[in-house]
Amino acid sequence: MKQQYHTLIIGTGCAGLNAADKLFDLGITDIAIVTEGRYMGTSRNTGSDKQTYYKLSLCGSEGDSVREMADTLYAGGGVMGEHALCEAAYSTRCFMRLVELGVPFPTNEYGEYAGYKTDHDPRTRATSCGPLTSKYMTEALERSCLRKGIEIIDSRRVVKILHSDGAVTGIACVSTVTGECSVIPCRNVILCTGGPAGIYKNTVYPESQHGATGLAVDAGVSLSNLEEWQYGLASVKFRWNLSGTYQQVLPRYISVDGAGKEREFLYEALGEASLGLIFLKGYQWPFDTRKVEGSSKIDLLVAAEIKGGNRVYLDYTHNPRGLENGFAVLPAEAYDYLNRSGALLGTPVERLAKMNAGAIELYANHGIDLYADCLEIAVCAQHCNGGVTVDENWQTELKGLYCAGEAAGTFGVYRPGGSALNSTQVGSLRAAEHIAGKGITSEAPPTYTLPAIKRGTSNIAAIREKFQSEMSRVADFDRDTAGMKDLFARVSTLCDTFFETVEITDEGETAEAFKLYDMAVTQRAVLSAMLCSAEHLGTHGSALVDKRPHRGDGTPRTTRTLTRGAASAPAPVSPMPNPELWFETLLARRRTQT
Ligand SMILES: Cc1cc2nc3c(=O)[nH]c(=O)nc-3n(C[C@H](O)[C@H](O)[C@H](O)COP(=O)(O)OP(=O)(O)OC[C@H]3O[C@@H](n4cnc5c(N)ncnc54)[C@H](O)[C@@H]3O)c2cc1C
Repeated sequence: MKQQYHTLIIGTGCAGLNAADKLFDLGITDIAIVTEGRYMGTSRNTGSDKQTYYKLSLCGSEGDSVREMADTLYAGGGVMGEHALCEAAYSTRCFMRLVELGVPFPTNEYGEYAGYKTDHDPRTRATSCGPLTSKYMTEALERSCLRKGIEIIDSRRVVKILHSDGAVTGIACVSTVTGECSVIPCRNVILCTGGPAGIYKNTVYPESQHGATGLAVDAGVSLSNLEEWQYGLASVKFRWNLSGTYQQVLPRYISVDGAGKEREFLYEALGEASLGLIFLKGYQWPFDTRKVEGSSKIDLLVAAEIKGGNRVYLDYTHNPRGLENGFAVLPAEAYDYLNRSGALLGTPVERLAKMNAGAIELYANHGIDLYADCLEIAVCAQHCNGGVTVDENWQTELKGLYCAGEAAGTFGVYRPGGSALNSTQVGSLRAAEHIAGKGITSEAPPTYTLPAIKRGTSNIAAIREKFQSEMSRVADFDRDTAGMKDLFARVSTLCDTFFETVEITDEGETAEAFKLYDMAVTQRAVLSAMLCSAEHLGTHGSALVDKRPHRGDGTPRTTRTLTRGAASAPAPVSPMPNPELWFETLLARRRTQT
């Protein structure tokens, strides 16, 4: 580790690695990536049935345009025009760069990247490398960084962004092994710390992802749309999304009470209609308030069982109730799909073996045998659409502090499936370009003293468990205003008295204590945004509030929720820019710049 750097990037996910790689290419080589764990984070450790990357259409004759893709992103509601336009305009460049780095996106024999339709996508812009797209992206970007000799400062949790006179001066980080604190001066920081995964108990983020949104809250910058999340059905022992074929093969949903009594609760509530809704869950994975009378009813029924004290499982070894007399009872869409897949047969696991054998192997690799074991499930948080407020260069309100990837708040109520991965690449590239194009911002040497943490019997795990469980109880996809207000008051007290409340056994636990602090500060900000949105905007998108049905006339939301510290207020979104598109003008402009 050197004495100081031009720019430090925090995080070794798709966003952080791309930021470092691009900065180096742009001539900024005095850089390092700081990470609490090189192999940690969402990008490297997650996936789904078919993990999607959203890009501009690059095949066939149906046509597409930057403006059309930008309009799709903007239509999510609560989205800033400049982000929608940049994420569309840079899409091809970022995608092709991944291709050049060896990420194995499939093409036909003439080089066309055929696409498919994903959720909230009017075209067929989605592509995928299979279940592990983001892992392949991470590995390819990491190889490129290592080839360039970019330094990775590993096993350091960043605990503070240091700044003076409105500009970044450095970071403070703590060794995750010894607890030793280091202050590293730098002129720019790119925060690529991923989603705030640690705030919920029920989550499908990988175990190794915690997030560090609290760093931005603590630095005094604002956050956008923190109330906008995606939640859906996932297995909890090994965290994995149960979308696509995991549902289309029609597993049996069972609830088990404390005495071990088993019930098919979906059939009890919905009768034979439950079969069609289970099938639909395959491609209507996230909970959506517009589908509470359709497939999202399943999420509500699963959560009700769990909140009632039961455990819920998917059983792939027996057919669900309703299929006793064969498949003729299924809606035409489900019947035709299974029929065309040659899967009108046997048990759910036999159908899964026929349609997607890899889905069974994946669980087997994590010690779960779908031929014998039931899969425990919950409705889990998967992605935060909101995050740190950034401008068109992905710079925050603090000069020299940039934020890209899931930590940044560039999405609103809805986003097309796969656009999160596109955003990791676009935001980090924009930040790198802006840093490379500007002069020196700050020279003030930073100082920092780590707050003292009490020694005793560690209470970190107990506090974490309590607050994560409460978040999942009152502030997930089925929110309760009174519960959120009460939790907001309690989490605010925790934030205010943190260093008197928390105890660690030894110095090696220091980083864990700061992770807990980050969780508390982030929960407070998220609850503030949720309460603000419940009051001003009503129910929409991914969450019910006090069981109210969907509110809104279908037009995209023109406000976002802005949070600073523990206070939130609605703010208007910017319109889509109408920039210069006359080539001669752009050429002349370029000549004057060089
Ligand atoms: C189950 C699941 C399925 C998904 N499927 C899709 C999909 O199909 N399509 C799509 O577009 N998106 C999908 N997503 C979302 C997408 O994977 C993530 O948004 C994206 O990978 C985030 O990348 P990132 O680089 O921003 O963060 P991450 O990959 O999470 O990296 C964060 C990094 O920051 C480090 N870090 C965090 N805090 C600190 C700190 N304080 N100090 C030092 N280091 C720190 C972490 O260790 C990690 O290295 C899915 C997510 C999940 C959970």
